[in-house]
Amino acid sequence: MSKFFITTAIDYVNSRPHLGTAYEKITADVIARYMRLAGVPTHFLMGNDEHSLNVFRRATEQGLDPKAYCDQMEREFREVWQRLDVSFDDFIRTTEERHRVGVTALVERIRAAGDIYEGHYEGWYCNSCEAFKQEKDLVDGLCPVHRTKPDWITEKNHFFRLSKYQQPLLDHYAQHPAFLQPDVRRNEILNVIQGGLDDISISRAGQAWGIPLPFDAQSVVYVWFDALINYISALGFGAGDEAFDRWWPASLHVIGKDITRFHCVIWPAMLMSAGLDLPERVFGHGFVYFKGEKMSKSLGTIVDPLDAASKFGPDPLRLFLLREFAYGQDGDFSWERFEDRYNSDLANNLGNLVSRIATMAEKYCGGRLPVPAAEPGRLAHVAAAAVASYRAAMDAFALQDAMAAAYSLVDAANLFITETEPWKLAKDETNAARVAQILYEVAEALRIAAILLLPAMPASAAEILRRVGAPKPGAGHRLGDAVWNAAGGRVTLKADAMWPRIGEAKKK
Ligand SMILES: [Zn+2]
Repeated sequence: MSKFFITTAIDYVNSRPHLGTAYEKITADVIARYMRLAGVPTHFLMGNDEHSLNVFRRATEQGLDPKAYCDQMEREFREVWQRLDVSFDDFIRTTEERHRVGVTALVERIRAAGDIYEGHYEGWYCNSCEAFKQEKDLVDGLCPVHRTKPDWITEKNHFFRLSKYQQPLLDHYAQHPAFLQPDVRRNEILNVIQGGLDDISISRAGQAWGIPLPFDAQSVVYVWFDALINYISALGFGAGDEAFDRWWPASLHVIGKDITRFHCVIWPAMLMSAGLDLPERVFGHGFVYFKGEKMSKSLGTIVDPLDAASKFGPDPLRLFLLREFAYGQDGDFSWERFEDRYNSDLANNLGNLVSRIATMAEKYCGGRLPVPAAEPGRLAHVAAAAVASYRAAMDAFALQDAMAAAYSLVDAANLFITETEPWKLAKDETNAARVAQILYEVAEALRIAAILLLPAMPASAAEILRRVGAPKPGAGHRLGDAVWNAAGGRVTLKADAMWPRIGEAKKK
């Protein structure tokens, strides 16, 4: 792979990010970090969607100029992402000039292709969804998502000839079976396309908050049409920027399952109309619920990701989200499950192993573990198998399986130490070489497991590498280092427990 361009959905800024929003950014971050670890030049884009009427209203409620309100929210979003260790390379806001340039250029290309025409829209519009609704979309006359009555609007609009792209889209799906994943989403979208596509309104009349249509200054570009274009405007599309040639098409759009229609029907049709390449893949992840409910302020089901990050650092939360939920499916968060996993995965398992190996290496070998003269034992085979499964899983975005592969090596190392009992062998001096070999092999298994865990737990995995004597500066580790005996002999480091147990300490 010569390059990897990954994006997430851009967020409405009418409220702070909750755990559901954070789930998307963290999982995309893990994929981006994995690609960097694999040595692939990677560009990771995130951003904020600011041209929503809800944002405009929220700002007005607070007595703020909408732009000033968006500036303030940008600071809050960036702070959350920083505290969760999300490593985006670029952050776009749809009020930026580069975005206006990109939107204007794309809309003009689509119009030049004959795919925009003037019409009259009369129908429902849910302000909370920021979406035009058809009668068949409503339940008892209400928006099924927001349980509110949509507005009936009548206005002059400009329409995009989406209907023209039904067959080209079907052809594209047939030729690119991996375009939309997981398969359940692909099947939903294929049904939508096969059911026939109506042209869509792409403008709103008489509004000031948004990007004016280049050929009708009285209208602004509909917020969704505007938002999708961020993926290319951020690369300088329309400004002749070489970043666009370098990075487009996107390798992967990571989005929530509720917005696949926008990303997998409308967006590819827009790109086809403009004569641009389509993204290679779109992944529609599931939702993280809290007590079975979608996170919502009014239902009191919001989990603030910073609550976990401020108590335990970001890594236990990141690992939890990957280990607990199959990527692509929904999951339910609870603090009880979080604490259980923290204790079982980190305090009792990985953290305990790191402490034991550093303590025994210091006690029996003065902290020095040379590469043994004897042939590598069974852990070397477990490590090779774990690395292979990990890579296969990560390449398929099966994040939960990838973490299970890394943990299979941690578990094997724990079992190996229990079975070989180096503390007993160490009582007899003639066993010195055997004891040193056992400890080296466990340290080596931990080194390789830590490399595999770097995308999930960047700071903690780097700390494990330091303690097992295999530190590298900055982001110096590569997946290619996850090979037995690749790091040579080492000096281990004994330090405080990395993850003290939550709740009552169990006597060992
Ligand atoms: Zn709605």
